[in-house]
Amino acid sequence: MGLGHCTSRATKHSLQKNAEQTMAPKPPFSENSPQVPPDTLGLTADEMRRLGYKMVDMVVDRFEHRDSEPVVTIGDANDLNQQLGGALPESPMDPDASLELMANVALAHMQHGDHPRYFARVPGPASFAAILGDWMGTGFNSICASWGGGSGPAVVESTVVSWLAEMLGLPDQTEGVLLSGGSMANFTAFCVARSEVGRGVAYLMDQTHASLPRNLKHMGLSDDEIRVLPSDDRLRMCPKALEQAIESDIRKGLKPMLVVGTAGTTNTGVSDPLRQISDICKRHDIWMHVDGAYGAPAAMTKAGRRALQGLERADSVVLDPHKWLFQPYDLGMCFVTRPGALDRCFSMNPEYLKDVQTDDQVSYGNRSLELTRRSRALKLWLSLRTYGASAFRQAVQRGIDLAEEAERQLRAEPETWEILSPAQLGVVCFGLKGATADDHSRRADRISQSGFATLSTTTLKGKSALRLCTINPLTTQDDIRLTLRHLSEEE
Ligand SMILES: *Cc1c(COP(=O)(O)O)cnc(C)c1O
Repeated sequence: MGLGHCTSRATKHSLQKNAEQTMAPKPPFSENSPQVPPDTLGLTADEMRRLGYKMVDMVVDRFEHRDSEPVVTIGDANDLNQQLGGALPESPMDPDASLELMANVALAHMQHGDHPRYFARVPGPASFAAILGDWMGTGFNSICASWGGGSGPAVVESTVVSWLAEMLGLPDQTEGVLLSGGSMANFTAFCVARSEVGRGVAYLMDQTHASLPRNLKHMGLSDDEIRVLPSDDRLRMCPKALEQAIESDIRKGLKPMLVVGTAGTTNTGVSDPLRQISDICKRHDIWMHVDGAYGAPAAMTKAGRRALQGLERADSVVLDPHKWLFQPYDLGMCFVTRPGALDRCFSMNPEYLKDVQTDDQVSYGNRSLELTRRSRALKLWLSLRTYGASAFRQAVQRGIDLAEEAERQLRAEPETWEILSPAQLGVVCFGLKGATADDHSRRADRISQSGFATLSTTTLKGKSALRLCTINPLTTQDDIRLTLRHLSEEE
């Protein structure tokens, strides 16, 4: 437009004056504001600040007291509808009351994945600096789609991709893109795999996360192109079974496209033998993908790096920072170690984007199916700078240690507990001696309903199990002890 900030404001101001003179309806600005309010829909700067500070206080208060809040609360649908629903608000309602309703009703009826006794599925122990990064990005309406439209956020995204690649031990040439989570990041990697090696068969196993076969199906693979192999007795992919399946498909004239290894399964935390899988992929020229949505952060620690040997050989890797990297929802990362492959798969260059795209700089809108996208990298960037990489490594190591501590406590009472899958990358599975699947579910339900703690039940090779995922660094040995005691008690 060529108008500076002040000029454009003055113009708007005089337009508004004219409007008032012709008796147009009053804009929804507060009377006593001498200037045009800065908010698009009319809040004054004072109101914006007051509400903003109030929200920050509400969030920090919750951080200080969350240990004593119920770890999960499930509402009654009628009740929630009554409080949160109702008629479309045609005219303004009190924002203070709405903020409080939001915190006390909408956001109180959830699982609190950042609670120190949240052990179910995968916790989400978000850190405050990461939350600040998300808030700031939203406040500035950050965009990271084209280079011309968001070169700053693009460099932030490239920076966190290379920082994370370094922390995981991935090769220097690794590129990446940030998405909403593991599901979308795996989907993105699968699209790249197909665009690089061509259509063919994908190999998974029975412990692969359920969203992966769903992804492949909706990419258009037929049932006959999705091979789900049985896991071995430690619930890992069996290299021998994999190679046999590949060779049998080649004999049938099919083309193997993609092997999916898992770095830390959601069920038991175990990692597939990634080195052997990589050898097989190299021999047959197949794309090697590693789903590390849950477990890849373990590669930042010494013991975890050993367990995940071979991760560095993958063509693509997925990691969910909203799980084990202390970021608020949502954030998933897709890494691709073949330079240019992401852009070859997703680039589009229509005439209406010519002004903002360049050939020599990255446009993140060309690295997945998302075009207009906020900068999800800001939170990771701000939190890595605020805490330093070593704090992340220590916090991940603590998650690994806590599962081992839980295993020690369980083994100390052999007449009560049996270990069904030892502590691996922050997960331990166990059973109450002599308990049925129903007993396990009843006890897990009881402790969740009490609000004290929550954990998952699962089935390992047909055997019912209880499962703790211990990746919150705020969890204490006592949290684990009290949770186990509560579980073992008679009703
Ligand atoms: C959580 C998870 C996913 C799915 O990720 P979302 O962020 O929930 O979309 C995929 N794979 C594994 C191993 C996971 O743990």
